[in-house]
Amino acid sequence: MSATGEWGEFFPINLSPFAYNETAANDQLPLSKEIVIASGLKWLDPVPVQNAEMPISEIEDSIAETKEDITTQILKCSSSQKNYKIIKSEFDFYKEHSLPIPRKCFNERFLDRMKKRSANFLYSRNCHNCSVQMYSSYPTSRPEKVFCEKCYLENVY
Ligand SMILES: [Zn+2]
Repeated sequence: MSATGEWGEFFPINLSPFAYNETAANDQLPLSKEIVIASGLKWLDPVPVQNAEMPISEIEDSIAETKEDITTQILKCSSSQKNYKIIKSEFDFYKEHSLPIPRKCFNERFLDRMKKRSANFLYSRNCHNCSVQMYSSYPTSRPEKVFCEKCYLENVY
């Protein structure tokens, strides 16, 4: 490996057991299927959608009225139209916390959370408390107050 210059390098991406579009790389830098394939990477086509056994409209709004047999049903995501299931431990969690059964599949819920995250960019800001110059993932247009580490630890933490 030393002779070929491979020593200390990352494993080549073509050895990855995962397709590009099922990794966090695709969340941060989405690429089209054509570009991924042309780059010599793997691409995972979606599994064909089955007819849902339970239409979204039949899912109860209240977990108290939801029967446990929903864990045996194939559901269809209200956003992506992909199939998903609710497993027993997930059902128990929703029941314990009085949360309704989600109408979206896991991946769509993950993407919704990703949209709420700050961008991968740091803005020059001033601490709300002491005005020291610092960097924050929140731009000045956001309403949140930002604190330097010292002020945060003294006042907030
Ligand atoms: Zn400060």
